[in-house]
Amino acid sequence: MKIKCQDCGHLEEVSLDFFVKLIGTAVSAGGFWAWTAFIFAGTGFALPIVVAIMSGGVAMLAFKDEIVEWIISKEYPCPTCGGMKWEATSDEGEEKQRKKDSEITELQEKNIKYEKEISDQKSSFFSDNDVGDLISESEEKDKKIQDLENQKKSLLRVQKKKNIEGLNELIFLIKTKEITSGDKALRYLENVKDELEEEEEPAVDSIEKWLRKVAEVIRTDDKGSALVVKAKEVFEGFGLSF
Ligand SMILES: [Zn+2]
Repeated sequence: MKIKCQDCGHLEEVSLDFFVKLIGTAVSAGGFWAWTAFIFAGTGFALPIVVAIMSGGVAMLAFKDEIVEWIISKEYPCPTCGGMKWEATSDEGEEKQRKKDSEITELQEKNIKYEKEISDQKSSFFSDNDVGDLISESEEKDKKIQDLENQKKSLLRVQKKKNIEGLNELIFLIKTKEITSGDKALRYLENVKDELEEEEEPAVDSIEKWLRKVAEVIRTDDKGSALVVKAKEVFEGFGLSF
């Protein structure tokens, strides 16, 4: 801390040495603390101010007004012009440094706060590992669904082949038999075969309708005949009862 003569602008460093000079050089080094404490206490200086003066430097700035007042009351004369009006001058460099330090501290605190907020937000959502797990889980499910669909398709292909074979057998059995309306039944069976062989998605309703007509014809045959037994089997293949 410095004081400035208001008359000539002379600057004086307010150090411990300055107080020694002001109070008197007769003071012994060992007794200085008690002595200054006594002097200052007598002039109304609070103990924290005395401690600030003793430690020197920036700590004094907090009490600069009181200290300057006291210096003026001691009638310390300016070494240059003899004036006794003093004012505290803030050391600009010191002030700037303090401002900078507090700005840095503030920024660091903000940074810590933001980092904490970010990490809190992150942990409240899925972690990167969770997302990875979910993606592979979903891919696995997609693959399983694809596998099942392929299985279903191949089962349908097998069933279709079986159904066509069954229809061919029925056609053969009807042709080798004298059966009323046999030609009609053959026509319907050919329709069903064509539908199965030529259509990507055979019309189930039409197939059922034609097979019902076939059933009417075949039912006129003996109940235990090979034709009736085969017809029952073929109908089951289509999910129908004979
Ligand atoms: Zn002066």
